Amino acid sequence: MTTGRAAVLHSFGGDFSIEEFARPTAEPGGLVVEIDTATICGSDVHAWKGHLSLGVQLPMILGHEMTGRITEIGAGADVDSVGQPLRVGDRVVWAHMSCGRCHECTVEQTPVLCAQRFIGYLHDCSVPPHFTGGFAEYGIVRPGAGRVRVPDGVESPWASAGSCALRTVVKALDLAGPIDRDDTVVVQGAGPLGLFATALLSLHDPRRLVVVGGPQERLDLAEEWGATHTVLVDPSADPAERVEQVMSITGRGASVAFELAGAPGVVGEGVQLMARHGRYVLLGTLGGQPQPVDVATVVTRGVTMIGSMSGAIGDYHRAMTALDRYQDRFAWDRMLGNTYDLSTLADAMDAMVSMREIKPVVRPAAR
Ligand SMILES: [Zn+2]
Ligand SMILES: [Zn+2]
Repeated sequence: MTTGRAAVLHSFGGDFSIEEFARPTAEPGGLVVEIDTATICGSDVHAWKGHLSLGVQLPMILGHEMTGRITEIGAGADVDSVGQPLRVGDRVVWAHMSCGRCHECTVEQTPVLCAQRFIGYLHDCSVPPHFTGGFAEYGIVRPGAGRVRVPDGVESPWASAGSCALRTVVKALDLAGPIDRDDTVVVQGAGPLGLFATALLSLHDPRRLVVVGGPQERLDLAEEWGATHTVLVDPSADPAERVEQVMSITGRGASVAFELAGAPGVVGEGVQLMARHGRYVLLGTLGGQPQPVDVATVVTRGVTMIGSMSGAIGDYHRAMTALDRYQDRFAWDRMLGNTYDLSTLADAMDAMVSMREIKPVVRPAAR
């Protein structure tokens, strides 16, 4: 094939048009892949609506959770970022590209906070080489982008979800520091981030692992994956009731909490859930209106609040390892929704927005 198709968005909230672009070629240090599967992330929905607090250029190809099968290897790109050999036909996931020569990249060693970070899907796809996002037949791993091979035992939709949601959770747990059997852990959110976090946190065997979210089916899955308690978020209920429920379950509040919901008001509520000297890790909110927080509670309870932008390539690798290693313990497929092709991408987005499906799967090569 000399061309490949992509689902292109021309106006926020609008329909996708299927367009053909010239098949890309691999630059030295880069890869060209066929997208095997892509899964939808909440950030795709925010970007689609024009609500993402990152610069977004139209027209765009949405999708940033994808697994690619290598079709072409550029000069010198025959090894991944953790030293594993790469061959044509291998599957990879890859990271946004950081500049490698700024204070954040080099001194702080936090490439996810690089101000020059190139996040493919946010860029104008009318500019060659076009294939900027996951909802397309081809993908480009740019020369400076970290990439890791997907283990053979990890199915492509899991790896896709792992490349954003789980890598973010890996980073969140890393930032939280040690968690052990004395901890009372609260996870805000029962979407992909909250569910992956529940699974990984359960491996630390905390005294309480409370998931606050909804709808009920997701809380049921959270319990299957290790939550000791769940609290259903009823949008019409007074948040103070949920806080009381969590306090009675945990005794003294959350010694460690994770904001993985991205919902309006979630941080104000999260602060009220905290135990004294607790750690509150925030990775769920990437946009929306400013939200009120009772700062006096943060101060008087001595709460540490830690924010971050998801994870770097090492976190992708650790996410792939976790998917492979714990696949008998957690049925990762339970998180996946229906499978769509490019022509039904709008339906997939709708399934995500309406919360009918946790992770819709897109197979761009399907017709
Ligand atoms: Zn994402
Ligand atoms: Zn940088």
